Amino acid sequence: MVEHTNRYGKLFNKQKNNQFQVGNSSYNERIKKLNKLQNAIEVTYREDIKEALHKDLGKPVLETELTEIYAIIGDIKHTKANLHKWMRKQKVSTPASMLGSSSYYKFESKGVCLIISPWNFPFNLTFGPLVSAIAAGNTAIIKPSEMTPASSKLMAKIVKDVFMEDEVALVQGEVETSTELLKLPFNHIFFTGSPAVGKIVMEAASKHLTSVTLELGGKSPTIIDKTANIDKAAKKIIWGKFLNAGQICICPDYILIDEAVKNEFIASCKKWLKSFFAGNPKTSDSYGRIVTNKHFERLKSHLKNAESLNAKFEVGGQTDGNSKYIEPTLISDLQPEATLLEEEIFGPILPIVAYKSLDMAIAYINSKERPLALYVFSKSKSNTNKIIANTRAGGTCINNTIIHYTNHNLPFGGTNNSGIGKSHGFFGFEAFSNKRAVLKQHTFGVTELLFPPYTDFKEKLARFTIKWF
Ligand code: NAD
Repeated sequence: MVEHTNRYGKLFNKQKNNQFQVGNSSYNERIKKLNKLQNAIEVTYREDIKEALHKDLGKPVLETELTEIYAIIGDIKHTKANLHKWMRKQKVSTPASMLGSSSYYKFESKGVCLIISPWNFPFNLTFGPLVSAIAAGNTAIIKPSEMTPASSKLMAKIVKDVFMEDEVALVQGEVETSTELLKLPFNHIFFTGSPAVGKIVMEAASKHLTSVTLELGGKSPTIIDKTANIDKAAKKIIWGKFLNAGQICICPDYILIDEAVKNEFIASCKKWLKSFFAGNPKTSDSYGRIVTNKHFERLKSHLKNAESLNAKFEVGGQTDGNSKYIEPTLISDLQPEATLLEEEIFGPILPIVAYKSLDMAIAYINSKERPLALYVFSKSKSNTNKIIANTRAGGTCINNTIIHYTNHNLPFGGTNNSGIGKSHGFFGFEAFSNKRAVLKQHTFGVTELLFPPYTDFKEKLARFTIKWF
């Protein structure tokens, strides 16, 4: 066996030596591991998780409960309820021309996997993929984000407490840590992060032809047509946009709205902002903060750019560097070249773009990279169908935002720039599995009748087979 000697080679070798032990683990053994992880998150470390997230992101307790703890626990419960079925051999029919044989495929573990995660939902986006990796019988090395140090430190403690190092290990570090890890010949890499880093990961993976799941980001458009219930749309968009202070891969990045209902929508948004954050998001316990100074400055420069292009600040625009606070901000009348319309925002700023016709809105979306999520607010079935049929996106939610993420029965993931591969529930299990095809010859196989030496009779038999089977 090749010994890998880089900084993480020893750890990698340990997991590699253990891969078949873990890969051939029974349903009960996998359930036991999932139970241990569930207990750690739901009971032992629940309060520590809330504290860490408050330190790193000023995350409100309820948001932590819902978007981190419940998200992982829900995932584990769904996996436990279905794993027996997923692990079963899948029998398939065998053509009559192969009489005497039978076929099935099985989901077998890929082996040693690497999970690289981002900072915006540190626990959810680290342990979520881990649940799928464990369910599929893999070992895993995890590299969480350096941007949320309290969360990463706590996750390292949880992993050490719950798992043996030769099955799951967590390595803390910055870019160079990922770079070193990416040199190793993992059997699968599950990366969640930006499209720019996704390309680096895919390039590194190509050196070993390692399969990848890339959960990336981008700009998720939200279309509101004039048939929509505008007040309900505003309520759901304000919730989806300003949750986690807009630092969500699937939050509505910008609005495309029929110009006839734009003013009504803005008025409703103002009303819901007031109601959600008691008139002052800065002092509200329901509003988070920006993760780092670098991201705070990045968002501030978007605001400056919009200002310099004479955009209209409908609400917000206030910032406070000391607490990395950015007020929920709605901006309209943006020039097409505004950075807010060009780059993924990933913060609490919502551009509103008015359209004259639905066709123009669709053309605008198709002129950009393919989004991770596309939201539609409409009462018109034909408009909704038209939008879905004429665009491509990782996922779509109709008359709501974000919540398609939480249905474990739906695949989650992007397309092209927003990602490769799917996760969640069965789709996550599938991503971490190799579908191995098995054909068993039971009796004399008719295919043997066509073995050399070739004769006229065999040629006739081949023609007969091609015609009739
Ligand atoms: P990021 O790409 O900067 O970092 C993600 C991870 O990659 C981190 O662990 C980081 O340490 C590592 N990394 C950074 N630079 C690297 C490099 N050069 N080589 C190797 N590894 C490197 O992303 P982020 O800022 O942590 O997260 C925000 C991005 O992630 C946004 O684009 C967002 O849309 C996306 N995201 C996607 C999903 C999803 O499920 N699709 C979820 C959350 C966030």
